[in-house]
Amino acid sequence: MRVVVLGSGSRGNAVVVESQGRRILLDAGFSCRMLEQRMAGAGIDAASLEAVVLTHEHGDHVRGVDRLARKHRLPVYATAGTLDHTSGLSAQARKQCHTVASGRPQEVAGFEIEPFTIPHDASEPVGFVVSAPDGCRLGLAGDIGSRSRLAWGRLVELDVLVLETNHDLTMLRDGPYPWVLKQRVAGRHGHLSNHDAAEGLPELLCDRLRWVVLYHLSQTNNRPELAAEEILETLAREGSRAAVAVTDQDRVSAPIEVEAGSGHQMGLWTAAAAAGSGG
Ligand SMILES: [Zn+2]
Ligand SMILES: [Zn+2]
Repeated sequence: MRVVVLGSGSRGNAVVVESQGRRILLDAGFSCRMLEQRMAGAGIDAASLEAVVLTHEHGDHVRGVDRLARKHRLPVYATAGTLDHTSGLSAQARKQCHTVASGRPQEVAGFEIEPFTIPHDASEPVGFVVSAPDGCRLGLAGDIGSRSRLAWGRLVELDVLVLETNHDLTMLRDGPYPWVLKQRVAGRHGHLSNHDAAEGLPELLCDRLRWVVLYHLSQTNNRPELAAEEILETLAREGSRAAVAVTDQDRVSAPIEVEAGSGHQMGLWTAAAAAGSGG
């Protein structure tokens, strides 16, 4: 399985998951043109996509879906609540939409996707566990306001965990957001902090987990090194050999590749390196 995060943050999110020559897109939160450009930059032909799967209707997750789906004749998979509330979906694109539901696994272009309900201020938001044709498993939990028992129960036995680390609590508290927005971000249906992600991580660790991909970082209330530090400390303390990658709003990630049943692969930062630096 190969994973490329085309970009992540409050201004757009999209992830390409590939396995055995097949490709799906998780969220389409950039314009169609930007999605195509970013894919091309990563050596991915947009025409080779076979489906788009949406987590929820917020603009930073659906911005390009209508045009991308129409142009490349892609089926779109999302919950009924997401489809009902996604603005700008044309009649033609709606004909290409398929409804998914939490707890009901669905075959999508050779992948099995398992949607699960997440706490977030959208109509019917979900995270996904994606089982690739080669047997690798990816879990995606972005825009998650708090660590629900349901979501945490699903994010197990993964090879790649894509987990929101939206904000640093101190930066959010002392930052420029108005009080109401601070409350929304930090609330149960807002976004997951570095601290919350790190605190819940031990439950999700397993021998096969090779990557923790930090996702949906705020450019105002977080810094990549702060998020990485909290997560790496936890991984080191728990003896996990998983590597950490930090995603960026404006840059396509390096490809994250895992093989079913393979050993540890070196990451951008590793827990061992962090422990060695005394951090
Ligand atoms: Zn979002
Ligand atoms: Zn959202």
